[in-house]
Amino acid sequence: MKTNLAQFIRDTPAGKEADSILRTCVHCGFCTATCPTYQLLGDELDSPRGRIYLMKEMLEGNEVTAKTQIHLDRCLTCRACETTCPSGVEYGRLVDIGRNIVEQHVPRSPLDALKRATLRVVLPHPALFGPLLRLGQTLRAILPAALKKKIPERQTHGTHWPAPRHARKMLVLDGCVQPSLAPDINPATARVLDRLGIDLVKADTAGCCGAVTFHLNRQEDARDFMRRNIDAWWPHVEAGVEAIVVTASGCGTLVKEYGHHLAQDPRYAAKAAKISVLSKDVSEVVFAERAALEQLLALAPAPSMRPRVAFHTPCSLQHGLKIHGMVEAILLAAGFELTLVPDAHLCCGSAGTYSILEPELSKRLLQNKVVALESGSPSLIATANIGCLTHLQSASALRVKHWINLLDERLS
Ligand code: SF4
Ligand code: SF4
Repeated sequence: MKTNLAQFIRDTPAGKEADSILRTCVHCGFCTATCPTYQLLGDELDSPRGRIYLMKEMLEGNEVTAKTQIHLDRCLTCRACETTCPSGVEYGRLVDIGRNIVEQHVPRSPLDALKRATLRVVLPHPALFGPLLRLGQTLRAILPAALKKKIPERQTHGTHWPAPRHARKMLVLDGCVQPSLAPDINPATARVLDRLGIDLVKADTAGCCGAVTFHLNRQEDARDFMRRNIDAWWPHVEAGVEAIVVTASGCGTLVKEYGHHLAQDPRYAAKAAKISVLSKDVSEVVFAERAALEQLLALAPAPSMRPRVAFHTPCSLQHGLKIHGMVEAILLAAGFELTLVPDAHLCCGSAGTYSILEPELSKRLLQNKVVALESGSPSLIATANIGCLTHLQSASALRVKHWINLLDERLS
């Protein structure tokens, strides 16, 4: 695609990156086949190709309008289009640049601005989110059904963390909402890795990866979250941790990109690049230890039956991190039977804060996803991202769990 970027952006790092991405798009439209919003709305401007066209217009100096904002807001950032694109267009990076410009030019309605500000203030801060969630859980029984479905029951079990005893060490990202919503996921990871001969350690001053803030278009504020985590992790990196383990694939996608997002920061660029290399989804870590895992599984008591599991692959795992088949291989080795899930490439509608900001589209995607997941008559649903987990649980009568909890239970 030919481009002629406007002077305001042409010579900036973002402008150069956007230009090279735009030039790789040949406008073939293959990406429209797998775009969830195009499938639902049938509007070219709600497809990747249409959004690329809108962003090109904007970057070439045409007026930035509310119409562009609406169509970019409706994008889930699921990146299914990247997986489909034969030309390797990095749509995710382009939409980050496009959204940042729209945000600076198009004001939001007072209600929309308030919603976004509230999400930015509450979600990344466990000291605020945790007590608010606990209040909701206490009042859950008397809440209206629609609200009740969105608040998961309080979990208090499964939080035992093994004492350190191994020479091999890995760090874990604690995250923001996950410790309150599902406090058993990281401890289960620590127990599985302990059995595999690895200590999982926490850095107390680390926190939210920055994804919530970044995707709410406060990209500079999000970089502060990244810098804080790097500062918290760096002594452990210097002490030789083998990896930074991330148990929510949505967060993992951003941590993998710290090097990119801080490339222009002379103080943090090199450290951020190192963090990106060390960042690993928990599936990559366990998969790499599969020989030891198979020995453990051979010693564990055989299950009386093979539980039927529908695995929901989060977009961040398959399209963001480009990890395919690892969780499935681990679950099969652990004796679970995997049911067939049609349209597994499609988003469940969770997509960070999308389910709150675009509730109608999110609900339609959720309904379709639950039908697809339940179509193979599983006894439970497994996934790899806390956002998908709570979103799916709000619409399915089946139990929805992180796959690492299933593996931990199998090994117990
Ligand atoms: S993003 Fe890729 S698949 Fe979509 S129109 Fe451009 S080149 Fe074709
Ligand atoms: S990221 Fe997802 S919703 Fe957005 S354009 Fe690509 S496929 Fe469509």
